[in-house]
Amino acid sequence: MSEPLVIVGNGMAAARLVDELAKTALGRYAIAVIGAEPRLAYNRVLLSSVLAGETASHDIELRPADWWRDRGVTLKYGCVATEIDVGRRELKIENDESIVFSKLVLATGSTPLRLNVPGADLASVHTFRDSRDVDLLLTLAAQKKRVVVVGGGLLGLEAAYGLAKAGAQVALIHLMDRLMERQLDVSAAELLKSLVERKGVKVLLNANTARIRGETRVEGIELSDGRCIDADAVIFAAGIRPNVALAKDAGISVNRGIVVDDTLQTGAPGIFALGECAEHRGICYGLVEPAYEQARVLARHLAGSAAAYEGSVVATNLKVSGVSVFSAGDFIGAEGSEAIVLNDASGGTYKKLVISGGRLTGAALVGDVGDALWYLELIRKQQPIARIRTDMMFGRSLALPAEAA
Ligand SMILES: Cc1cc2nc3c(=O)[nH]c(=O)nc-3n(C[C@H](O)[C@H](O)[C@H](O)COP(=O)(O)OP(=O)(O)OC[C@H]3O[C@@H](n4cnc5c(N)ncnc54)[C@H](O)[C@@H]3O)c2cc1C
Repeated sequence: MSEPLVIVGNGMAAARLVDELAKTALGRYAIAVIGAEPRLAYNRVLLSSVLAGETASHDIELRPADWWRDRGVTLKYGCVATEIDVGRRELKIENDESIVFSKLVLATGSTPLRLNVPGADLASVHTFRDSRDVDLLLTLAAQKKRVVVVGGGLLGLEAAYGLAKAGAQVALIHLMDRLMERQLDVSAAELLKSLVERKGVKVLLNANTARIRGETRVEGIELSDGRCIDADAVIFAAGIRPNVALAKDAGISVNRGIVVDDTLQTGAPGIFALGECAEHRGICYGLVEPAYEQARVLARHLAGSAAAYEGSVVATNLKVSGVSVFSAGDFIGAEGSEAIVLNDASGGTYKKLVISGGRLTGAALVGDVGDALWYLELIRKQQPIARIRTDMMFGRSLALPAEAA
C-alpha cells in the first residue's frame, strides 16, 4: 500500500516536489497537498507580469487540474493547515478535519513584512505576494490612484513598474542609498534607477518611513527627514518572513526559518521542510531556484536514494521593471580582488566582472545579460580564466570563438 505523504502549501516548491516525486517515486506515496490559496499552484514569479498586463492570471498555473488528477494527488486548496500532532502523525486542517501522514513536508513559503509604523493598519495599505494582492493592485491602477511603494528591492521595483504600467501614479521609496543593494553595486544601481524613472516611477532614496498619514484611509506617507508624499494607497514590499508558526507550535526547531538538515528533514523524524519556509545551514532563501534544487534532493531522498542538499550559489537573473538585471557571487569585489567594468549609461548597459586568484568570483550586469549563465557557470565551477580574461567581458562567443562556432 502507498504511504500517506502530506504536503502543506500549494506553492512553487510543493508543485516542483510533486513533479520530482512523480518521476522518482510514483506509486510509493499517496500524496495529498493542502494549500491555503484558493486556486491551483501557479508561478508566483509571473505575478509581476500579470500586474504589468503582460500575462493573463489564468495562464500562470504550473500544471492543469488533470495533471494532478492523473498522478493521483489529492488536492485541497483554499484550505489552511492549523496544527501538526507529531506523535499521532496527524495534520489538522480548517473545519476540524484532520489527515493522517506517514511523512509530512512543510512548504509554507513566506509572508510579506508590514513596517511597524503608525498607519500601517489603514485600509489601502497592501502587500504584493499572491494573486489576490495583484487583483487589488490592478483595481488601484485602474482608478489612477497615487500609490507609494515601500521597498526598492526586486519586489518593490516589480510592484512599482506594474502599477505604473497599469495606470497608477507611482513613487517608490527605499531606505538605502541605492536600489537592490543586495544584488547590485553603486553604478549598476544608479543605471537601474535611471531606467526605472524613464518608465514613469519616481524614486526616492534614503527614505525612512516615519508614518502613514490618514484617519480612516491613506492620505500620504511621511518620512523621518520630514519629506511628505501624498498618496491614496501604500504597498509594503520591504521584506518577507518565513511561515514557521505551524512547525514552531508543534515543537519543531525553528530559527528565522524551519531548521532542516542536508536531507531537508526538520528536527522531527519524517517531517521535512523546503522552499522559503526552510532554513538550511543558517540560510533562508527567497528565490525559486534554491527551492527547486531542494525539491530535487528531497524527492530523491523520499524515493530511497542517497541525496544531500549542500546549499545553493544564489544568482539573481531577472527582468526588473522591464530591465534585465543579473548578479552573482561577490559582485561588489572583496579586498584583493580586481574588477573589469564596462559602463555605458546612455546606452543602458553596465557590466562588472570581479576576479580573484585568477578566477571569476562575481558579476553584475544591467541591460545586456546575454552571457549571464556563462558567467554563472564560471563562478560556480571556479575555472581558471587567464586564457579568456581579455575577451571575457565581450561574451562567450568572443572569448571562446572555436567552441562557439
Ligand atoms: C511578485 C513576486 C515576484 C517574484 N519574482 C521572483 C523572481 O523573479 N525570481 C525568483 O527566484 N523568485 C521570485 N519571487 C520569489 C518566489 O516566488 C518564491 O521564492 C517562491 O514562490 C517560493 O516558493 P515556496 O513554495 O517556498 O513558497 P510559496 O510559493 O509562497 O508557496 C507557499 C504556499 O503555502 C501556503 N501556505 C502557507 N501556510 C499554509 C498553511 N498553514 N496551510 C496551507 N497552506 C499554507 C501559502 O498560501 C502559499 O500558497 C517572487 C515573488 C513574488 C511575490
